[in-house]
Amino acid sequence: MKTVLIIDDSPTIRKLLAYILKKKNYIIAEAEDGMDAMEKLSHVQVDLVIVDLNMPNMDGIEFVKGLRDNYYYMDTPVIMLTTTKDEKLKKDAFEAGVNMFLNKPVQPGVLLYKVESFLQEGEDNGR
Ligand SMILES: [Mg+2]
Repeated sequence: MKTVLIIDDSPTIRKLLAYILKKKNYIIAEAEDGMDAMEKLSHVQVDLVIVDLNMPNMDGIEFVKGLRDNYYYMDTPVIMLTTTKDEKLKKDAFEAGVNMFLNKPVQPGVLLYKVESFLQEGEDNGR
């Protein structure tokens, strides 16, 4: 079973994403911002991260930079949720190590498809 870490400052969005993913039997870990997520990662092992861009304390880009500094999470798939059309921000996020963007509001089918394909790829690589 795979664990997905959901990081968003909106409890409603966390709840919605968790609901969608739990239907496919993913184990869910939740964090309310980047700082909280860093703390969670010190005691939970995760296979994929879904992270919001705009959050207090530590935003999505700062979080991903920190995540990629951790040897264990160098290749972990990261999906960033955003409403931004700011191309510079997106470029910064990709450079920080984000694998793909999904626009809010998230379509459940699209989310599941992306999560499944990232985790499948990981298995093909023998991870
Ligand atoms: Mg937010």
